[in-house]
Amino acid sequence: MRCAVLYGPHDWRIENINIPSLGNNEVLLKVKTCGVCHSEIHQWDKKQEGLEYPRYIGHEVAGEVVETGRDVKDFKPGDRVAVWTDGKGYAEKVVVKSDRLFKISDKISFTEAMAEPIACTTNGIIKSDIQLNDTIALVGTGFMGLILLQQLKLRGPKFIAAIDTREEILELAKKLGADFTINPSTENSKEVIKDLTNGKGVDVSFEVGGNEATLNLAADLCRMEGKLVIFGFHPGSRKINDFGYWNWMAFDIINSHFRDLHTILNGTRIGMEMLNSGKINLQPLITHKFNLEEIENAFKAAKEKPKGFIKSVIVMN
Ligand SMILES: [Zn+2]
Repeated sequence: MRCAVLYGPHDWRIENINIPSLGNNEVLLKVKTCGVCHSEIHQWDKKQEGLEYPRYIGHEVAGEVVETGRDVKDFKPGDRVAVWTDGKGYAEKVVVKSDRLFKISDKISFTEAMAEPIACTTNGIIKSDIQLNDTIALVGTGFMGLILLQQLKLRGPKFIAAIDTREEILELAKKLGADFTINPSTENSKEVIKDLTNGKGVDVSFEVGGNEATLNLAADLCRMEGKLVIFGFHPGSRKINDFGYWNWMAFDIINSHFRDLHTILNGTRIGMEMLNSGKINLQPLITHKFNLEEIENAFKAAKEKPKGFIKSVIVMN
């Protein structure tokens, strides 16, 4: 079967590899789609210390069950599923443990059924424990930000202010439920938030962008003793210049990441049920589709974010 293997920065090779053998508790899937994750871009773009190549990445997989292991009772060939996999997703087939499979409703397309990002946003919100009538700033409304926005809305906030430098993304944020939008390249976000909160700052400030600028801005918008939620992915070492300020402001700092498998799978189950029941909508977020041979372009788009870009997905033909 064909599989895209990353041999080094910008060095994708489509190889023919053996279909993995199937264990008793495993399921063989025909891959339909695999989303390009922001967390993969750094290992594709530059050689990373400590990472070995070739690498078999790709973890946002949806597909169809082809074969089930002897002990698998809950799935059968033909089932449409989203999966939590730890790699090898940019391939025609993948083998996954049966407890990491989640059924997709017939109304949901494979392209929007991404179990891992939905698990991250679901668990991020659970961990940050949003309360009724909270005021919320969402700093960075790319793919993850726009899923968070829809789920945050369901927690009954007083308002959500979506903050991003891309105008077309802010328009979509508004359609998906943002009460206010702020573009920091043309507006003073801190002043706007002050006006909206009687000078206090928001109860919960979500940092989603995963860079120093979004982290600093999120801290700037948070009220004294408010929650500063670090949702963004921050690879490598990074200094926090304003730690004295964070300390003085008595922020409740929440790292909304998690590593425990039980938590991951529970978040996936909850998030996938929300997707299947139409509580969240990922359809407008899937903006760029590529076939396997175009994987380099899919990653380029994810890095460069051309106008209107939200998410790249590899669609297997
Ligand atoms: Zn991902």
